[in-house]
Amino acid sequence: MRILILSDIHANLAALEAVLADAQSFDYEAVWCLGDIVGYGPEPEECVARVRGLKPRAVVGNHDWAVIGRMDAEEFNAEARRAVLWTRQRLSAISLNWLNNLPHEPIVEGDFTLTHGSPRDPVWEYVVYPAVAAANLAYFDTPFCLVGHTHVPGLFVFAGANGQRVNVIRASPGQAIVLEKAHRAILNPGSVGQPRDSDPRAAYAILDTERSTWLPRRVAYPIEVTQARMRAAGLPERLINRLDFGW
Ligand code: ZN
Repeated sequence: MRILILSDIHANLAALEAVLADAQSFDYEAVWCLGDIVGYGPEPEECVARVRGLKPRAVVGNHDWAVIGRMDAEEFNAEARRAVLWTRQRLSAISLNWLNNLPHEPIVEGDFTLTHGSPRDPVWEYVVYPAVAAANLAYFDTPFCLVGHTHVPGLFVFAGANGQRVNVIRASPGQAIVLEKAHRAILNPGSVGQPRDSDPRAAYAILDTERSTWLPRRVAYPIEVTQARMRAAGLPERLINRLDFGW
């Protein structure tokens, strides 16, 4: 089965549409979404509606949580907080309710655990460093764990009898990586709507469970369209400018 893996869309509809158009050729049968559908970007309602229509297996992200009021927006920096409050006013009751029903705890699909931040701290922890990745191994039972939240695509692959060696693999777009069950791994598809690895293109991945491959993808989208919509909405300038740099 081929599965479309989305994360950190952040209300960027132009990026989401580019990803969905690009992914069509893979003929995927399911969609998994790792959270942060909203926050930062100009089209939260449209993005939630679009994702909802894909009937994904999905978990909630920290921005989704803040928008539905499950978490104090005070925990965010000033700009993210402004975006959270702005977003809250723009979501329909249906979308708020849908976000509210997304699970906070990791979910398991076959060989894969799905979570936003990390299996140890599902909404908040960033799996950026090998040591953090290794510390999380004890918190999931499946061979593989999918995370988002860092907005940086890549893999941590564990080798050695107790997973004591960690190989960090930076994703090369378009190059499939074979997943071996003998080597547990934490995989991150990167962010659809606000990449932070200095590549401004939207990031996502295609998981093929029969071939056991992970295919990282990048797709260009009209960044200026999203930026114009953000300006019209009065969202913070720094959030607008960072999209140019993918950071
Ligand atoms: Zn995010």
